[in-house]
Amino acid sequence: MKLLLVEDNKDDADFLMASLRRCPHPGAPVEIEHVMTLARAGEALQEGGYEVVLLDLHLPDGSGMTCVDTIQSLDPALPIVVLSGQDDEDFAVSILNKGVQDYLVKWEGQGRSILRSIRYAIERKRSELHLNYLAQYDPITGIPNRQYFNDQLKRATARARREGRKVALCFLDLDGFKLINDTLGHDAGDALLREIAQRLRSSVRAGDVIARLGGDEFAVLLEGLDGPREAEIITKALLRLIAEPCQLAGRQITVTTSIGITMYPNDHSDTMMLMKNADIAMYRAKEKGRNNFRFFTPSMHDELMAYHHMEHDIKRALNLDEFTLVFQPKFGLPGRSLQGLEALLRWDCPTRGEVTPAQFIPVAEESGHIIPIGHWVLDRVCRQVKEWEQARLMMLPVSINMSARQFLQPDFHRRVAQAISQYDIDPQWLEFEITEQLLMEDLEAAGRSLEALKAQGVRISIDDFGTGPSCLSHLRRLPIDVLKIDKSFVQEIGSSEDSEVIIDAIIALARSLRLQTVAEGVETQDQLAFLIGRGCEMAQGFLFGMPLDAAGLAQLLSSDASRPPAGPRPLPAGGRA
Ligand code: C2E
Ligand code: CA
Ligand code: CA
Repeated sequence: MKLLLVEDNKDDADFLMASLRRCPHPGAPVEIEHVMTLARAGEALQEGGYEVVLLDLHLPDGSGMTCVDTIQSLDPALPIVVLSGQDDEDFAVSILNKGVQDYLVKWEGQGRSILRSIRYAIERKRSELHLNYLAQYDPITGIPNRQYFNDQLKRATARARREGRKVALCFLDLDGFKLINDTLGHDAGDALLREIAQRLRSSVRAGDVIARLGGDEFAVLLEGLDGPREAEIITKALLRLIAEPCQLAGRQITVTTSIGITMYPNDHSDTMMLMKNADIAMYRAKEKGRNNFRFFTPSMHDELMAYHHMEHDIKRALNLDEFTLVFQPKFGLPGRSLQGLEALLRWDCPTRGEVTPAQFIPVAEESGHIIPIGHWVLDRVCRQVKEWEQARLMMLPVSINMSARQFLQPDFHRRVAQAISQYDIDPQWLEFEITEQLLMEDLEAAGRSLEALKAQGVRISIDDFGTGPSCLSHLRRLPIDVLKIDKSFVQEIGSSEDSEVIIDAIIALARSLRLQTVAEGVETQDQLAFLIGRGCEMAQGFLFGMPLDAAGLAQLLSSDASRPPAGPRPLPAGGRA
């Protein structure tokens, strides 16, 4: 054990050294280096190798806490045992609180007890350092954690203020990490996090701080910048680096990340707000698509407030029953017989007026309110079907739009079964529309959910077909009944040859898979004529009239619904888009 004794009183030093030397010491002998000043102590510590410092607090070049501070700043990891002339409990406590490991009163105690106290001081320091490490480092990746990062951010902004420079704070969130974790297992997920941490470390400069904030979120702190341009260059390099393939669980996989960036002092001076800004910008980068970055802008903050406001209003709308349903008829081609209905949500908000689904569904999706909204729609449609049946109206399948989140709920099919039995309706009158996008995102999970749903006896259609990344070979294995040609193609009939070719292809595909085709968004006679010419089986759209509320629909179903209409005709009053 190598020990540094800092003591200017020669008698005190001799006594201590004699006591220690007299004491039988197991293992390596105690090696003592004695210096008389802080300055000499500094020189000795430069050489290193010491395990502990015995420190007098009355030295020629410093006294009291200054001595402790000096030693700690020279080597923060070194345990310190203070030597004191008097036995003062209060002073002892205050000095232990400053991070000193022990306190010895001079001329007291035997070598053995002094030695024990020194040993304990070393142990105490070791566990203190370990706890410090645990509190500041992420156990999975070994890089700093959120707390350490927060501390460093505070320091970096203070330095930047003094030096008149800028700091960039980047938040990274891996794209689709959950899927990797779920499919390849948690060990593979952890390995991926370590790989990412390693790549980050290798790509930033020595002084830049990287951290894992939790989950699949990382942060990078870039200091000493002159402006956002430099941050942009580094961010682009990070995106490229992370997107490079890596080996995981014996497979080669590629992950991408989304990065949000905020600048100090441009965007905010407060570190908490900077963290928030970077988070907001990161979410916006995700929205832009994967493998992207975005700088924070003040309007993002406003948009976030608008989002929270909307979310709040949606919650209230659910409680106060402000939602209603309208029904858009589907017509068989070429005869235009009424073949089905699509239920569409409407929200007449007392403060906002009519809010379109395009405005509120994304917020409801993200906030999770889409789940209770979806339950409400399911319940309402089942009840409506029952009412039509009891009123002996013409019966038609009603399709329900299904949100991704709702569809992926493991008990969704049970909910459907429950609603069917509660209202005692025939499941053939229910159809569920699921978007192609959602289906292809997690094919296996979607397939399972579809099978469970299909087993209830309902029909299933793929909505917005042609817009998503469809994998045709998978389509055959899914229990689906209908492909809905997205209205973007229908609306380009006559103006885009590409769209016409796609419509042709979808109809041909549906035919070969024995699926029905429904064209949505039909607005003109020309579009209708084209679709009839290509053999599309059904159509819906404003050409046939606006979606109807329940009362308007009851009128339609009871009137001449069984007789095919001669041409586009005004639907009964009461409909609204
Ligand atoms: P979608 O499933 O593709 O529904 C068709 C949308 O096109 C509806 O808009 C409908 O009003 C509109 N539309 C119908 N015919 C025409 C036409 O000839 N021309 C044009 N330009 N548009 C037409 P809406 O009602 O605003 O709904 C928008 C989207 O909101 C729907 O797209 C659907 O994804 C979602 N949505 C609507 N109701 C629900 C619901 O109950 N649950 C869920 N999860 N999503 C819903
Ligand atoms: Ca739909
Ligand atoms: Ca659609």
